[in-house]
Amino acid sequence: MTPVKPRTLSGIQPTGQLHLGNYLGAMRNWVAQQEKYDNYFCVVDLHAITIPHDPQQLRAATRAVAALYLACGIDLTHATIFIQSHIPAHSQLTWLLMTQTPLNWLEAMTQFKEKSLRQGENVGAGLLNYPVLMAADILLYQPHAVPVGADQKEHIEITRDIARRFNSLYGETFRLPEPLIQKEGARIMSLTDGTKKMSKSDESDLSRINLLDAPDEIQKKIKKAKTDPIRGLTLDPKRPESTNLLTIYALLTSQALESVAQEFAISGWGQFKPKLTDATIAFLEPMQERYRHFTTEPGYLEAILKQGAEKAHALAHETLYQASTNLGLLLPP
Ligand code: ATP
Ligand code: MG
Repeated sequence: MTPVKPRTLSGIQPTGQLHLGNYLGAMRNWVAQQEKYDNYFCVVDLHAITIPHDPQQLRAATRAVAALYLACGIDLTHATIFIQSHIPAHSQLTWLLMTQTPLNWLEAMTQFKEKSLRQGENVGAGLLNYPVLMAADILLYQPHAVPVGADQKEHIEITRDIARRFNSLYGETFRLPEPLIQKEGARIMSLTDGTKKMSKSDESDLSRINLLDAPDEIQKKIKKAKTDPIRGLTLDPKRPESTNLLTIYALLTSQALESVAQEFAISGWGQFKPKLTDATIAFLEPMQERYRHFTTEPGYLEAILKQGAEKAHALAHETLYQASTNLGLLLPP
């Protein structure tokens, strides 16, 4: 008998175009480790509506993210791909957990503090409760591990806190998941400001390289990427732009970070940037080709998402049922 594999769950919001940070911090690791786990990857559209959005763009982005999961190498023999809002249990468990989450835990979250600043006076309750929805996303599937980028560590911690509290009050209900964060690529920085992380929601498209960017856009963005006046690239916390671009180059060309740093230790930015441009274009080209294939074949993606939803629903429903029972809700006859 083959032993049952440990389970993972992770997701990405369709808030815009997926970029190299999403790939290097999360998706790359999903693909690299997929054989070791039984994986669940969702497109978290309910999270995307916690910031101002355009309905039509959201629908298109949701489809694009699912297609990029496949294009980056997720293999359906190891993984289930689905859309969060197709499984009502995510919203249902969120309410149950919300009643059990102290308000001050939510107010202290970094993401809430940062993103609510951008929303000014119209901060929605959804942004505050984002971590509870994320806790529900995760806990529903009883995963052992959650592979994410470094910025999501705080969200996994609050998920564990919510689960621990619930289990101690109402009996063992949820597994406490571990964050799975790789050292390299866990925090890819913006091209225009090496102290800020690369983000879908950054207003400037020049700040990121999107996975679907055309070669000329990639060339333009890297050409404009912020540099410093020092000749020779080094891995130095005081030189965030140099460290970031060397990291991207090393990961995209599958080389050790130290050897890449050695190679460019005496090169000028003018020598390094064209090499980074070529490496990025060469790396993304086959992914883009697969993306086009998955999105142009009629019905292909829809069939995968339908199947994914059925499988995810069965698992999620079991946990929702258990949580409802443990809370004392009278189940329908
Ligand atoms: P948004 O700006 O809308 O929050 P985002 O770019 O932060 O978008 P998310 O959907 O919030 O993307 O995160 C998806 C996954 O990508 C998470 O696992 C997150 O940790 C990872 N991730 C996001 N940005 C980076 C980055 N700059 N470097 C490494 N990993 C990242
Ligand atoms: Mg984010």
